[in-house]
Amino acid sequence: MYDVIIIGGGAAGLNAAMILGRSRRKVVVFDSGKPRNRWAVSMNGFLSSDGMSPRDFIKKGREELKKYNVELLDKKVDTATYSKGTFVVNDEEGQVYHSRKLLLATGLKDKLPELDGLEPLYGKSVHHCPYCDGWESRDKAIAVYGRERNGIGQALAMKNWSDSVTLFTDGTKKLRPEDLELLKLHDVQVCTGAIARLEGEDGMLQRIILRNGEVREHQAMFFSGETSQQSDLGQQLGCEFTGKGVIKTRRLQRSNIPGLYVAGDAARDMQLVIVAAAEGAKAGVAINMELQQEDRVKD
Ligand SMILES: Cc1cc2nc3c(=O)[nH]c(=O)nc-3n(C[C@H](O)[C@H](O)[C@H](O)COP(=O)(O)OP(=O)(O)OC[C@H]3O[C@@H](n4cnc5c(N)ncnc54)[C@H](O)[C@@H]3O)c2cc1C
Repeated sequence: MYDVIIIGGGAAGLNAAMILGRSRRKVVVFDSGKPRNRWAVSMNGFLSSDGMSPRDFIKKGREELKKYNVELLDKKVDTATYSKGTFVVNDEEGQVYHSRKLLLATGLKDKLPELDGLEPLYGKSVHHCPYCDGWESRDKAIAVYGRERNGIGQALAMKNWSDSVTLFTDGTKKLRPEDLELLKLHDVQVCTGAIARLEGEDGMLQRIILRNGEVREHQAMFFSGETSQQSDLGQQLGCEFTGKGVIKTRRLQRSNIPGLYVAGDAARDMQLVIVAAAEGAKAGVAINMELQQEDRVKD
């Protein structure tokens, strides 16, 4: 029986494991190796590790855990259930594990716009989070992708990072006269033409080709896309979700299920690596305190 099973070995799961390992708890971390930012060349906005590659960040975190005897298993968890104070977890090979507490740190996945040529540029010059990649795109000719009225907010926001911002609605013509007036007031260009493809070199966007043959020169693109949970374990366990598809958490990352904690992007709050790590640390402390309390009652 483990004290704690952690599912997900990104920033949230690894930081929780560090706190719990340092608290001399018997901990195992399962990880299927798909951190959300694995497409990105750099992880920005994390004090002391700003600009580090996401891969090196995880590697370093795993190295640091070695001295705390945390078990790391590179396996996917398929099912998790809770009954009478015990969590039962099955990995992809059918092995079964038991624990007193469970932390879900399984993250989110992103739905990308369906644009030819986007994939090799994603994470290098095509981004969704200005706080992660706005600085690196500063003063560039920025394209914001948003069909119908979806890109208005982001296009206005990107003026923070560049004077040259164009909103692409990709063949949709749903912008209202008041939207166009607002965009014009803030000097945001609008292009409603349908996009044929994106072109670039070595991951760097160079131009957007429209279906009518027009060529627009841009060096960066931002979009705000849909996200969904990377795993369905929250549903399996009966967690409450918000309307935005993240798991509802209470104080110190507690969920509605006793003994089940949720940290990082899978839970409600800002989606940044440093926030995920902090939530992992909060959950680690709260889990250890709950275990201490239970053990005191037993004694
Ligand atoms: C392209 C891109 C660039 C980004 N750039 C930045 C940036 O520069 N700065 C920044 O602060 N944020 C950035 N972010 C956001 C950042 O990636 C997330 O906030 C962060 O990764 C959340 O950490 P997490 O630990 O919650 O989840 P993740 O890092 O996504 O880790 C979750 C882990 O759980 C594992 N997992 C999922 N399901 C299972 C299962 N069933 N069994 C076992 N393991 C499982 C996954 O394989 C994964 O390794 C970026 C995001 C994207 C998409």
